[in-house]
Amino acid sequence: MFKSSKKGAVKAESAKSKPKSILKLSGKKNEPSSETDSKGSRLSSLQEQFTKKLEGARFRAINEELYTASGDLSFTEFQKDQSKFYAYHKGYREQVSSWPYNPLDRIIDWVNRRHPKAVIADMGCGEAKLAESLSTNKVHSFDLVAVNDRVTACNIAAVPLPNESVDVVVFCLSLMGTNFVDFLNEAHRILKMNGTIKIVEVRSRFEDFKGIKKFTKYLKRMGFIIQPQENLSDNKMFFEVDCRKVAKECRLQEEPFELKPCQYKKR
Ligand code: SAH
Repeated sequence: MFKSSKKGAVKAESAKSKPKSILKLSGKKNEPSSETDSKGSRLSSLQEQFTKKLEGARFRAINEELYTASGDLSFTEFQKDQSKFYAYHKGYREQVSSWPYNPLDRIIDWVNRRHPKAVIADMGCGEAKLAESLSTNKVHSFDLVAVNDRVTACNIAAVPLPNESVDVVVFCLSLMGTNFVDFLNEAHRILKMNGTIKIVEVRSRFEDFKGIKKFTKYLKRMGFIIQPQENLSDNKMFFEVDCRKVAKECRLQEEPFELKPCQYKKR
């Protein structure tokens, strides 16, 4: 029996049965390009610049929406208008390309070294790069929209997995909803005893070092044990923490924890 409701979980439909409007947008190949207009003619550089500006503005608006809404509301909104997901990820990919490294690459490396046989839940998986990159693991990938067959669309506060069924839960820059503590509670539910949650977040979401300490204290109060980190001295942009499940019940705290939204600069 699942403790949480499976309400709304949607598995990616086969490409054949996908509505055309979604197929057109899905995957990098079929995304509308900012270099051609709807008829495929080349845009002038001014038009290109303007389109890029609009796309950037839309990306930042969707980003803000994700940080200021509950997971439930985001799921409803993204299911209603799936183009939001594609617009968001186009912008997100551009941001990632300007970072010193993609934190997901380090997670892939960590799983290969430390957990090569683990069953993994990737919460807020985006385009499911983790599942695509790991050859010896079973990876369940969850996001608001099923961009490909690897992904199950759902709100990560209620994923369609049984209790204590995975060894590792990954949140890579995905604690976005106002109720992200519910995401952590859900992670606790699906984790086997002694399983690990790996969280990576942008450091600027925490006020300062004290904010980070507060967060790890909060995780401890929920019933997790914080694992010592590997040497991450070059990790200035991201905060990373591994938590181990050591108690059967997760102690949900009365006061919610708040993190600042991650804001992307205009580029
Ligand atoms: N982890 C991926 C994507 C990071 S972007 C990577 O590292 O590449 C954050 C992702 O979290 C987005 O795809 C967003 O849609 C997803 N997300 C945010 N809130 C969510 C929720 N309530 N339920 C499911 N996915 C969510």
